[in-house]
Amino acid sequence: MSGLRPVVLSGPSGAGKSTLLKRLIKDHEGVFGFSVSHTTRNPRPGEKDGKDYHFTTREAMQEDIDEGKFIENIMFSGNMYGTSKAAVEDVLAKNLICILDMDIQGVKKIKETDLNPIYIYIQPPSIEILEKRLRERQTETEESLQKRLEAARTDMELSKEPGMFDVLIINDNIERAYDELKDILNDEIKKVQEAKS
Ligand code: ADP
Ligand code: 5GP
Repeated sequence: MSGLRPVVLSGPSGAGKSTLLKRLIKDHEGVFGFSVSHTTRNPRPGEKDGKDYHFTTREAMQEDIDEGKFIENIMFSGNMYGTSKAAVEDVLAKNLICILDMDIQGVKKIKETDLNPIYIYIQPPSIEILEKRLRERQTETEESLQKRLEAARTDMELSKEPGMFDVLIINDNIERAYDELKDILNDEIKKVQEAKS
């Protein structure tokens, strides 16, 4: 099926991107496919290699980058993250809507490609609430938490650049944010569902 636009979800760490995208994928079986990124950070409890991320080493990832296997890659909070060409191609080959979760530096690089995604920015209601949610998630050390908050401030400033995102969703209430996300993607979802019926 041609013409299915990928979806980029961006926003600071802790904004709620994975919560929203996991629910979207689960509620729409056979519609969305997640572009599994590579990272050199350690897996969090419950994260599965090949599903949440391809967990890898700096050396192996750098080698693949040098061989041209990545669409984009960045350093975030002391770790490498990146989207391989295969991650996106795997989803597109299944005629699914490809969802990418990436920081704003990645968004800028994707804009230089011909992927033509819908760019959605997930924003926390405030830095204070973001900090509270990150602490409650209990996945970060104090050091990595501070790095994420610092990155969040820059990220939220850069996100205001005109034309950077198609839509901004403020994730104050998860139900409301999810409904907004579904509404935005309704036309794309229908395209897949109609093609399958
Ligand atoms: P991201 O993927 O953007 O880093 P997560 O989806 O992991 O963010 O969300 C960060 C934390 O905040 C998680 O523990 C999640 O359960 C929680 N969370 C997400 N959205 C909300 C919300 N609207 N209200 C309260 N907690 C939320
Ligand atoms: P986390 O460690 O919380 O999973 O992710 C940290 C940050 O890296 C988040 O902002 C997330 O969106 C971003 N990220 C995850 N995968 C990629 C990727 O492939 N490319 C880019 N540019 N950022 C990514």
